[in-house]
Amino acid sequence: MPLSISRDDLIRTGNFIAGRWTEPTKETFGVRDPADGSLIAEVTDSDGGDAKAAVDAASAALPSWRAATARSRAQVLKRWHALILSNQEDLARLISREQGKPLAEARGEILYAAGYVEWFAEEATRTYGDVIPETVRGRKMLVVKEGVGVVAAITPWNFPAAMMARKLAPALAAGCTVVAKPAEDTPLTSLALAVLAEEAGVPPGVLNIVAASRSRAAEVVDVWLGDSRVRKITFTGSTPVGKHLARESASTLKRLSLELGGNAPFIVFDDADVDAAVDGLMAAKFRNGGQTCVSPNRVFAQREIHDEFVRKLGVRVGALKVGPATDESSQIGPMINRQAVRKITSHIQDAVAQGAKVIAGGVTEVDEESNYVAPTVLSGATSSMLLAAEETFGPVAAVFRFDTEAEVVRSANGTPYGLAAYFYSRDVSRIWRVANAIECGIVGVNEGLISSETAPFGGIKESGYGREGSRRGLDDYMDVKYVCQGGLS
Ligand code: NAP
Repeated sequence: MPLSISRDDLIRTGNFIAGRWTEPTKETFGVRDPADGSLIAEVTDSDGGDAKAAVDAASAALPSWRAATARSRAQVLKRWHALILSNQEDLARLISREQGKPLAEARGEILYAAGYVEWFAEEATRTYGDVIPETVRGRKMLVVKEGVGVVAAITPWNFPAAMMARKLAPALAAGCTVVAKPAEDTPLTSLALAVLAEEAGVPPGVLNIVAASRSRAAEVVDVWLGDSRVRKITFTGSTPVGKHLARESASTLKRLSLELGGNAPFIVFDDADVDAAVDGLMAAKFRNGGQTCVSPNRVFAQREIHDEFVRKLGVRVGALKVGPATDESSQIGPMINRQAVRKITSHIQDAVAQGAKVIAGGVTEVDEESNYVAPTVLSGATSSMLLAAEETFGPVAAVFRFDTEAEVVRSANGTPYGLAAYFYSRDVSRIWRVANAIECGIVGVNEGLISSETAPFGGIKESGYGREGSRRGLDDYMDVKYVCQGGLS
């Protein structure tokens, strides 16, 4: 099916560098619809030279963008926000085609992405410093904040608009300029966002997008890692790549924000409202087909409510409609690619081989012709299974039975990751006890949907560091400067 949206000019296949769109004349890579493998577009496969050109442009644009008033930067961001909203449907269709999430979810992602742009447009004018009471007569002591400089943003495929917006908006608000590389699977959404940024009045060179295939990702990003003009790397993606970026940016001591993988526990205590817990798990786990970093990966149900919970969950999951994103009634789209299908299926296979019981779905053979995975519920999960240790990143809910609070907190924390955790309980004392004991950056209590541009998003342990969104989100893109003026009478 051809890619048809109402504004054809949003479909770009070249890079955006120094305010100019390049033609995809040299090597290209194919962007494919995960629903059927059909080719959507051929996009420029950038090399190290393109990566350097983007830094040259961002570096040249930095002084004037940094010197612009916070209010004028905010106005540009507000116009960008309005344009994202007015093009919501086209952007949602682009996301659905290249990433595969159902249209209703893609529309929601655009609202979520726009929310970050609006939030940081507003925060731009509130980057207050401090006036410190002088410790010595005749001194003024001030703290001011300023943008860190050129920022390199690297994003994953699972939320192509939101992950980009979460980085670009605070960077631009802070007075930074940006070089950005979207994921191989989903470059078109980022390029479309850049069209709208240009239209909103983002000056040439302030935002640069460099697309690359998976095989060229390291070549592009290595140039940014080694360039001392790039002062910060902001990355969302897997923990191994995050660690690589931390290691390789050490030689120029760049600042880093790393939003990495998770292994979120979802705990249902005996005193929980079981129906609410099932609702919460459906929302948290099956959104985007389970391809979400805060998606629960291990579900723990306490002994007394275990069977009721599993039964109700199985009924709901069994009724999910699987289909292409373009079908408005689809609730679970295709997985991003065949490699993802293989990993998810291997987790199901391994769990079943180790004695897990299939309550819904549970296909254990990979269909090499299709990227669809039947939404699955497994019970009898144990800590020796692959899905206990690794992020499945698919529509598989594996339920572990537990007896005591102490035991489940130990299990929940028994992973190197610490991004999100969820639990359901109606006992107020337990709520605070468990919220305090859980090792992670985000906790959902009796709530499955926790993301918001107004709240700090990020992890601890090997889920990374830095926070996106909230009033703290801008600080990650700003340096603090202390100015001490002496000799005053
Ligand atoms: P990934 O493989 O780490 O890729 C993320 C980005 O890094 C992509 O743009 C990728 O390019 C690029 N990349 C890959 N190898 C690289 C290298 N050697 N040097 C520089 N860049 C490189 O992760 P993914 O599979 O796309 O995304 C899924 C992961 O992201 C999951 O672990 C998920 O939990 C995590 N995630 C975390 C958050 C969060 O906020 N904490 C949010 C969403 C996702 P290519 O696409 O071209 O390979």
